[in-house]
Amino acid sequence: MSVYIDLASRLIHDQAKNLAVTCPHCQVMSHITPVAVPRFEDLTVHKPKQVGLVYLCDNCHSPVFLRYTVRAYHTSRIELSPQFVEVERAREKFTFTYLPEEVEVLFKEALLCFSNGAYNAFASMCRRTAQAVFADLGEAGKLRLFDELNNVRDLAGIAPEAFNKLRTILFNLDDDPRSNIPTLDSYEAGIMLEVCKDLLYEAYVRKGKLQQAMMVRRFFLEETASNLTSMAQTAE
Ligand SMILES: [Zn+2]
Repeated sequence: MSVYIDLASRLIHDQAKNLAVTCPHCQVMSHITPVAVPRFEDLTVHKPKQVGLVYLCDNCHSPVFLRYTVRAYHTSRIELSPQFVEVERAREKFTFTYLPEEVEVLFKEALLCFSNGAYNAFASMCRRTAQAVFADLGEAGKLRLFDELNNVRDLAGIAPEAFNKLRTILFNLDDDPRSNIPTLDSYEAGIMLEVCKDLLYEAYVRKGKLQQAMMVRRFFLEETASNLTSMAQTAE
């Protein structure tokens, strides 16, 4: 695979047709097209070790920024390493509407850590989120979520080693918090993310949605009842 900037400041990328990333704006895995490439002359004057390119998401047409490491400066081409860094990564989404404020603040930061590939910072923020949830729901709520975690393990078939780490991070809160947080790799962090979303959904979102739906039903019922009453009165 070769990627380089030529004398005319064009980006020549032999895999350009297959270049796709998860767009940070529309969250769709989309092909991206280069729209702003640094000028060849400028780069050869300063010879920076890294260069930034702007692409356009083919799906939503928002800008996508990629950073490449320069492999070599030649007289007629600037060779880039094919591996790039996505400067702005797609954010993980979650419905925060029904969460208590403290839980929302902490879990938002957890998602931010995850999106930036800081998986152990993510694990620590998941623990803080869990602490806030347990403080809010009390011991009964904590036990309910512990049961739910076991359900998730059975439903999703999570491997024992990963599961034990998740359980330790979320539920073993009594010991010295510095000593007992296991480290997570990207795969385990991905499992952790889905498990936390499920637990928060179970603890707050499901109940909130149901309550709201019931409220809407009651509203329409009362509305219909009062309409019927006024129709009956008009008929009299
Ligand atoms: Zn997009």
